[in-house]
Amino acid sequence: MDKNKIVIPGDQVSTSEELSSGDGTFEEDGIIRASRIGTCVVDEKHRRAIIRPLTSIPVELKKGDIVLAIAGSVRSNMIIADVIHVIGKSRSISGDTNGTLRVSEISNGYVKDPSTEYAPRDVIRAKVTQVKPSIQLATKDRDLGVIKAMCTKCRHPLIKKGNLLECENCRNTEKRKTTDDYGNFDIDKL
Ligand SMILES: [Zn+2]
Repeated sequence: MDKNKIVIPGDQVSTSEELSSGDGTFEEDGIIRASRIGTCVVDEKHRRAIIRPLTSIPVELKKGDIVLAIAGSVRSNMIIADVIHVIGKSRSISGDTNGTLRVSEISNGYVKDPSTEYAPRDVIRAKVTQVKPSIQLATKDRDLGVIKAMCTKCRHPLIKKGNLLECENCRNTEKRKTTDDYGNFDIDKL
């Protein structure tokens, strides 16, 4: 495990042979992955991998903020996504983080069904278009959309191949509304 490396949800931090899964991580098929944004730390005493949150100073969401969000349920006309980070502000978010991305706000092109563009647990870069009474998100711009996605069949990372994403493990192909920097997300731009 790379100590002090900054990771985003879904990044591999270790294996279950090396360490056990601690705070801010989860284990799947022998691989320990980050479940939040933060710094890799090893709890040497218990041989556990931990992701320490970047900082704990709370920040309030504002209209126009660019955020990272994790897709939750994908419905017929919207996606529910949990806002986990405001780009440029390494702080935790205070208050409500439950955002809504309506089907009309996904892309500049016509989208009939959100499930053709996003899947649960995708890491999405989105713009906040409204904060109150509810958090509304949009991903129409080219630099907005999925920055990281896992195969819905085997949960291994999906690699961009032309207009599609391909699983590095089972070769399943899937489609997403990806960003230009999909798979090459620059951690310095957090
Ligand atoms: Zn797969």
